[in-house]
Amino acid sequence: MAWFKKARKPIAPATEKQSRVPEGLWVKCPDCSQILYNKDLATNLHVCPKCAHHFRIGAAERLRTLFDGGVWIEYDKDLVSTDPLQFTDTKPYKERLKATIESTGVKDAVIVGSGAIDGIETIVAAMEYGFIGGSMGVVVGEKITRAIERAIATGSPVVIVCCSGGARMMEGALSLMQMAKVCGALARLDRARLPYIAVLTDPTTGGVTASFAMLGDLNIAEPKALIGFAGPRVIEQTIRQKLPEGFQRSEFLLDKGMIDFVIDRREMKAAIARALRFMGASKAAAPAPAATAPATTEPAQQL
Ligand SMILES: [Zn+2]
Repeated sequence: MAWFKKARKPIAPATEKQSRVPEGLWVKCPDCSQILYNKDLATNLHVCPKCAHHFRIGAAERLRTLFDGGVWIEYDKDLVSTDPLQFTDTKPYKERLKATIESTGVKDAVIVGSGAIDGIETIVAAMEYGFIGGSMGVVVGEKITRAIERAIATGSPVVIVCCSGGARMMEGALSLMQMAKVCGALARLDRARLPYIAVLTDPTTGGVTASFAMLGDLNIAEPKALIGFAGPRVIEQTIRQKLPEGFQRSEFLLDKGMIDFVIDRREMKAAIARALRFMGASKAAAPAPAATAPATTEPAQQL
């Protein structure tokens, strides 16, 4: 029997603020409080036209902003987690997966596709934050590894757009093993002399930062993105020091040499294409079955 009993119900916690773009006609910018028309925001790649606040976007939207004509071929679309640990927290992991698949329309927290970025055939993996915080479980690790292996087989560069809270705790150590697996695949990509660009968006934390997010030949971040391993509160408690202003934000990391560039989303595609060309990737869109490879790319610029 409990010694103390609460007679009254505890006060309900305040509802959490949503940082995703809400549904509806108008959106208020959380940074400058400007009221924005949703369609205008979408044409501006979900960047506030007044203060350049970058709203978080989904994986499909991200691929649309990167690939020419917004078209790509998707791979391993139907890989789903099997709940190997039969994990239960506040509710069974199996049920959580089912509900998330229904609400997001994707089967796990990453979409992998191949298409052309300014005429360069590229394989892109974009993470979906709406899927259990973009957490990396077995499926995310496997899909990204297969994407890299496909890139090695076809001689294409790889771009990974990170947006993740870290490893997926519901898959325990199995999710941590994905860090080593993806890094191994990236090492093989490196040996094949193919470029890899990591794009770090808000947020990139935990096991994703500790593995492939920091291994790009170029690590490019979006402005003011939260990038780190452990959260600031944990660090403060561990080192018992006050953390500096702007800690774990893109600009701070750029200043400290952790990342190479901070680039506005509206210029991201052009910047990636330029970097890929610089790194010698100038392969035109693959000879697809349709055999109508557009002759838009310039002759190979070997560097
Ligand atoms: Zn704004």
